[in-house]
Amino acid sequence: MPMKAFIDWSKIDTVLLDMDGTLLDLHFDWHFWMEYLPQAYADKNGLGLHEANEIIHAKVHSQKGTLNWYCLDYWTAELDLPIAELKHELKHMIKAHPDVIEFLAKLRSMNKKVIMVTNAHRDSLALKLEMTEIGDHFDRLISAHDFGLPKEDIRIWSAIQEIEPYNPKHTLLIDDNLLALKTARKYGIEHLLCAVHVSPNLKKVNPQYFNFFEHFRQIMPA
Ligand SMILES: [Mg+2]
Repeated sequence: MPMKAFIDWSKIDTVLLDMDGTLLDLHFDWHFWMEYLPQAYADKNGLGLHEANEIIHAKVHSQKGTLNWYCLDYWTAELDLPIAELKHELKHMIKAHPDVIEFLAKLRSMNKKVIMVTNAHRDSLALKLEMTEIGDHFDRLISAHDFGLPKEDIRIWSAIQEIEPYNPKHTLLIDDNLLALKTARKYGIEHLLCAVHVSPNLKKVNPQYFNFFEHFRQIMPA
């Protein structure tokens, strides 16, 4: 049975954190892919919005769970649109969830090693670091693109060991991506938490078999 989170911080020395949806409000990404990009595609190709939407959704759906899904270069080529530039136009919508900065600062003050592991492309990551304060609070920022493997592929968890060794028994992963949580569990990461609060504007994630939390207040170390 999944439960609301209780974390024994004394057992944890490393915290792996996802970015989009977990630390940052997913509304930016959702709006970009579901509304802004289809409109740009429709304008460029002289299509109706409905038609553009169907084409883009089919293309996006076909890449789900792969690294391409997150890859700005792939979509720039596939849609013949300057994806990074278009994202820039919307960057004012990027924001962190409440209490994220306090949570990250707390982890550092407790001498936990704090590592971001995101499927986001380096260009997306850079834009989000520019628009939020989260970047200052990490020991290391890892993009799955550096390994050519998404978190949905179990091999990423051992690939990370080669650049940033961690003990899976004393590691906590916080993520809103159930497939990433599943590969991490299979690899042996002992402490797993599902962030269900991806955005106030979007449906909550069903945590299935994972412990979960809705607000960083609920998991803030004392
Ligand atoms: Mg996420």
